[in-house]
Amino acid sequence: MTKGARSFDSLAVHAGREDLTRLGVHAPPIDLSSTNPLPDSEAGGASYESMAGGGRPLAEGGAVYARLWNPTVARFESALAQLERTEDAVAFSSGMAAMTASVLAAKAERGGRHVVAVRPLYGGTDHLLASGLLDVEVTYCEPHQVADAVTAHTCLVVVETPANPTLELTDISAVVTAAAGRPVLVDNTFATPVLQQPALHGADLVLHSATKYLGGHGDVVGGVVAADAGWSAALRRVRAVTGALLHPLAGYLLHRGLATLPIRVRTQQETAAELADWLRFRPGVREVYYPGLDGNGAALLGRQMSGPGAMISIRLAGGHEHAMRVTDRVQLFTHAVSLGGVDSLIEHPAALTHRPVPEEARPGADILRLSIGLEGVEDLRADLDQALAAASTGGLVEAASSAAPGSGR
Ligand SMILES: *Cc1c(COP(=O)(O)O)cnc(C)c1O
Repeated sequence: MTKGARSFDSLAVHAGREDLTRLGVHAPPIDLSSTNPLPDSEAGGASYESMAGGGRPLAEGGAVYARLWNPTVARFESALAQLERTEDAVAFSSGMAAMTASVLAAKAERGGRHVVAVRPLYGGTDHLLASGLLDVEVTYCEPHQVADAVTAHTCLVVVETPANPTLELTDISAVVTAAAGRPVLVDNTFATPVLQQPALHGADLVLHSATKYLGGHGDVVGGVVAADAGWSAALRRVRAVTGALLHPLAGYLLHRGLATLPIRVRTQQETAAELADWLRFRPGVREVYYPGLDGNGAALLGRQMSGPGAMISIRLAGGHEHAMRVTDRVQLFTHAVSLGGVDSLIEHPAALTHRPVPEEARPGADILRLSIGLEGVEDLRADLDQALAAASTGGLVEAASSAAPGSGR
């Protein structure tokens, strides 16, 4: 634990850096070693044994080999665990690698191979579970159906809140109660520990695509799972065997990203709340999806999630074509998948992030998802304003010209 750092913001800056002063450095060292000199076979072997079992390296034997342990990555893990209020955390090469390891660890720990997946989920997660690659039997359901969906063989319940891309909120403690002792994994990518700490509501595993808000600058791919010591050991065992490691450079960048996470998320949220409110009254926008709006999760805001976050989805009045034209016309927003960075992004979930999801669970083709960055709110509003206006006019012009008699077409 970090001495003197009690508040979340102080922890974000100092966690995982507890020994830097003793080392005589100010920035965390980046250790790129793939292997480590062994004091002797006996001590090295004992340390290997400890890490292969999911534990830490022993002081006498050292880290042995980078697939077992890396100190730069371990600093990020320790910091994230402190922010998520869990005992430990284990980092992976991507969010999907973290999800894969979580399912494998749950199967190994619990013995069953049944997974309950609460929809809507991130497209990649939905697809991974359905793919057959993990040899699990999956029941997809809605939050209120979890109690009926679990069986004696359920090894994991997977839930995401806020959901992607509809931003619906799910009551984590209600899912935990309904799971009746089966492990519950919460994908906390959209909320971040700044706004929501699922472990405090009973979640066993808290997963992040660290690629998004934790890194925050669009230049790192990574994943991490925060959990108690037992689950973390199980996840480390899976990681040591399957090898989906976070690279130490990525570990350094993710650790650095945590220091500014609170101020980034709060500022982005402030801008998003203002834009969401404004978007509701824009011509051409049929619906705005944002926590707290139209009663979405109102009871959970404040109790489970401290604020609505910085992701917004909108439904366009002119359907799929209209949505496509908006993504063509934005200038300050970047038309790109991913989210949670310092710059604003816009994308079409049905065509991209949720493409592998079966049609009945896929978001509407008239929906766009916006990740709000750190730009000035007036610039973002002006960009959306011109893109929405141009997209509507474009539609009218095209419709008029194709309908016009004698237009030569
Ligand atoms: C992006 C994302 C993932 C997958 O993470 P990668 O780092 O892209 O592998 C999982 N869950 C959510 C909610 C995401 O947005």
